[in-house]
Amino acid sequence: MKPETKTSRRDFIRKGSLMAGVLAVSPAVLSAACAAPDKKLGIALVGLGGYAGGLLAPALQKTANCYLAGIVTGTPAKAVEWAKKYNIPQKNIYNYQTFDEIANNPDIDIVYVVLPVSMHKEFTIRAAKAGKHVICEKPMALNAADCRAMIAACRQANRLLSIGYRLHFEPHNQEAMRLGQKQVLGKVTIIETGNGFVYGGNPNAWRLKKALAGGGGLMDMGIYAIQAARYTLGQEPIAVKATQEKNNPDLFKEVDETVFWELKFPGGQKVTGKSSYNDNLGFLRVTAEKGKFDVEPAYGYDGIDGHVNGKQMDLPNINQQAAQMDDFATCVRLNKQSRVPGEEGEKDMKVIDAIYRSLDSGKWEKIG
Ligand code: NDP
Repeated sequence: MKPETKTSRRDFIRKGSLMAGVLAVSPAVLSAACAAPDKKLGIALVGLGGYAGGLLAPALQKTANCYLAGIVTGTPAKAVEWAKKYNIPQKNIYNYQTFDEIANNPDIDIVYVVLPVSMHKEFTIRAAKAGKHVICEKPMALNAADCRAMIAACRQANRLLSIGYRLHFEPHNQEAMRLGQKQVLGKVTIIETGNGFVYGGNPNAWRLKKALAGGGGLMDMGIYAIQAARYTLGQEPIAVKATQEKNNPDLFKEVDETVFWELKFPGGQKVTGKSSYNDNLGFLRVTAEKGKFDVEPAYGYDGIDGHVNGKQMDLPNINQQAAQMDDFATCVRLNKQSRVPGEEGEKDMKVIDAIYRSLDSGKWEKIG
């Protein structure tokens, strides 16, 4: 049973937002947060795998505006281990069956979905229905239609939704956005970008199962390259043509290994991309009318570097995950849409959907 104060607050939120006709956070939550600006917001990580354990939980030890308040796991041994390691009380630990009870837990403000892609939609919608704000990892969902359902559910529940696009908080990538969008070196004419790694993991992992991952290197790694082209230009692509190659068809039986694409933008720029599960790469190279800039390595957690007309950018590497989560906590506090909302995830998935259509048809495919 929900505590009375919580229920009435939630009712007030829903009525208030309907009356105001706004999508964002309720006045009640806003005033509560503003009344206690020093209180860190509580995040619950859902799915305690490599990214949650290796990057997000450590980053949450460094965040200023949020902290690791809870966990949701299907593996009881991890619940024990994490509770001890991060001092998480039993009342803030859930499994996938008990997850909806998180609605009654005032310690949890934000649910962070770090599950295999096929589970993103379900847990984002369940989190929103439980009254929690949501961060969902990339790729947002199996396809753009599922993204729209997730956006609609969060809007209906009057909760904020953000995607784990950490590079929007990374200084070198931010510089590429500035240089490209503000046309500092004149109009951008060519973008070449790619992202991938040599998959050496478990051949039975979810990443290689189409039903769980939606696709292979394109969904997992190519999404960064697609996104970088979009944020360098500040425009949306209108069509795409793609090809693929498989050197290891046994391992990549169900999903793509290496994909190449060309994107058509309204400005006529030449934009090419590559994703791979069989090649180590991560670059963004941009040619503009009056010069060149690059970010390379571009998309990792660390060691990112960049150049403008051959001169090093001289920008710091930061803890991207901490910056991303702190920013979302601030958005929740200030009733402000994240710079990487669900709509941003949907835009990338529209491009990816069109790339898969193009791989099937062998032709240019319209995006959206
Ligand atoms: P892992 O396989 O390492 O972890 C996934 C976790 O999900 C598992 O440990 C498990 O946690 C839970 N899970 C629930 N059901 C299943 C299932 N059927 N099969 C497998 N796992 C299941 O994946 P990652 O942590 O690498 O990736 C998770 C998400 O994070 C993906 O969307 C991925 O794209 C994204 N990611 C984002 C990165 C970024 O830089 N933004 C980097 C890496 C990943 P439990 O045992 O607790 O139930």
